[in-house]
Amino acid sequence: MSDDTVEPPDHLNVGIHRYQLQVDHSRQLDRDGFRGSTFTNELRIVVDAALPESRLRETVVHEALHAISDAVGLDDVLGTAPSADDCDEMIASLLAPAIVALLRDNPGLVGWLVDGTGPSQ
Ligand SMILES: [Zn+2]
Repeated sequence: MSDDTVEPPDHLNVGIHRYQLQVDHSRQLDRDGFRGSTFTNELRIVVDAALPESRLRETVVHEALHAISDAVGLDDVLGTAPSADDCDEMIASLLAPAIVALLRDNPGLVGWLVDGTGPSQ
């Protein structure tokens, strides 16, 4: 990211957890074939600093969804879905309130996603 680019917030509140959000300048993620990574046990999200701004925003949301998936136990629930339609409905039902909470609890993230600004958290 260039010097005049506003960095994402340094943490995300996901349910009861506070994830540290790190913008990594080492390029290790890119060498490993990733744009970002979520370490749920460490409550840490790492994203590649070299990503273009819109891709960086997408990646932060992608990684936040991994954190939400962990928080709501999505992996465990999906295995119980009797059909693809049920699976689709379960995903929507589980993620909708968690996404609302993510946006409500992270005004800095919302500002950064929408216009690259927002209150620092
Ligand atoms: Zn992923």
